Amino acid sequence: MAIDIGEHCIDCRRSVAFGSGLFVNRIPADNGDLDGYLCVECLSEECETCGEITPEWTARNEIVQCEACADGETFRESQYAIDAVLSRLSAQNPALHASIYPHWKFVIDWINEHTDGPR
Ligand SMILES: [Zn+2]
Ligand SMILES: [Zn+2]
Repeated sequence: MAIDIGEHCIDCRRSVAFGSGLFVNRIPADNGDLDGYLCVECLSEECETCGEITPEWTARNEIVQCEACADGETFRESQYAIDAVLSRLSAQNPALHASIYPHWKFVIDWINEHTDGPR
């Protein structure tokens, strides 16, 4: 049975109680031995792209990234994918490419304009 350590981080064992400075962004955690919380510092990882230390990270292909960089990457990947499809299409079926291209261009331009785009 896990030992209940209350409002303490199960990793660094510091207090995560209100006023401790580690209250915000703590999450309940249980590692099998200890039952308590994880503090924001123990939760956080450094983004390998921008260097920001954040609890809101994702690991993809074993690369740790903050959400903003991960989103930017996904956005760029979809742009590459669309780009690749369009360039293949222009080689295989120029007429179809010509009719589709302006629509994709419109979509990509719209996204770039209305979001931060690739960050
Ligand atoms: Zn901690
Ligand atoms: Zn980042």
